[in-house]
Amino acid sequence: MAHLWRGILTEYADRLPFTDADPIVTLGEGGTPLVAAPALSKEVGAQVYVKVEGANPTGSFKDRGMTSAISKVVADGDEAVVCASTGNTSASAAAYAVAADLRCIVALPAGKIAAGKLAQAIVHGAELLQIDGNFDDCLRLVRGLADAYPVALVNSVNPYRLQGQKTAAFEIVDALGRAPDIHALPVGNAGNISAYWMGFNEYAGRQTAASLDHNSARRPAATDSVPTMWGFQADGAAPFVKGEPIENPETIATAIRIGNPASWDYAVAARDNSGGLIEAVTDAEILDAQALLASEVGVFVEPASAASVAGVLKQARAGRVPRGALITCTVTGNGLKDAQSALGEGAIETTPVPADLATAAAALGF
Ligand SMILES: *Cc1c(COP(=O)(O)O)cnc(C)c1O
Repeated sequence: MAHLWRGILTEYADRLPFTDADPIVTLGEGGTPLVAAPALSKEVGAQVYVKVEGANPTGSFKDRGMTSAISKVVADGDEAVVCASTGNTSASAAAYAVAADLRCIVALPAGKIAAGKLAQAIVHGAELLQIDGNFDDCLRLVRGLADAYPVALVNSVNPYRLQGQKTAAFEIVDALGRAPDIHALPVGNAGNISAYWMGFNEYAGRQTAASLDHNSARRPAATDSVPTMWGFQADGAAPFVKGEPIENPETIATAIRIGNPASWDYAVAARDNSGGLIEAVTDAEILDAQALLASEVGVFVEPASAASVAGVLKQARAGRVPRGALITCTVTGNGLKDAQSALGEGAIETTPVPADLATAAAALGF
């Protein structure tokens, strides 16, 4: 029987704050693969799956939050949206603004956006404000714009973003038939860890501080447990590890190059109430995990995405992974967005051979 995945707002309508009368702006986001990763499982002595969020329409999990935030903007009758971004939020906002016929303004740290992400904002016709500052400066600026002018803010400080993003936790439980023992993910502005924690709890029949007053937690529980939450930051951008905001965050993982996370309290609650942790991994560990995902699992992710896997590997080396545990890792964005960081600085070397069978076979060692 034909079944078209209809996007998260429709697939999980009974657990989201929209009614049948509300407009839905969707590009078919969600329904992403949960891929068994035998190479990782072997390495950490547990059962590891990766949730491949790079398979969303614009190549990152931001689409889950954007279908929700932009649908709410349309319902409210607003005509323009604004966001600060390290790249993926702007790519997603720009695409959903096209679908909703809205004006889209994005503030980006100048010179710090991966080429693929910048291309997305441009092709979708967003108005770019390149800011002489970092992400935290951009967020402060757009909050000011949204306060003073008729533009709606679609960063994750907009509660509708987290509403959409919580559906990834629903999908994981639906795919496994239970909640994982541990869920690992990268932490930047900390909206996503807050959203997953809300999603896992609502599926277990409980609300969190991020929950809105709606039906989700009143629905029958879909699971009787919630996972331990493991968040991972980059060493040079690890405010939760330091216990306070960081002035000049630095990391190759640009999507988590954030020093003053907006969802601070929700993320701390997710960590503490799950008995979890938020720790740091180095850029080298991130790049190793990215390479391992590409060469041994078959999933190409951008550097920030690999922080979850780098963290689980690090915990395993420290003897902190319970044997046989069921672990899910969110890999947040597609590697194609930032191919340069995966390939390194050098040009790609190729040595062409003539297009004949004998030479090609010889070149391959047959
Ligand atoms: C936005 C983003 C993150 C960080 O998510 P937060 O909700 O800001 O913690 C991580 N990885 C990728 C690829 C992202 O786009």
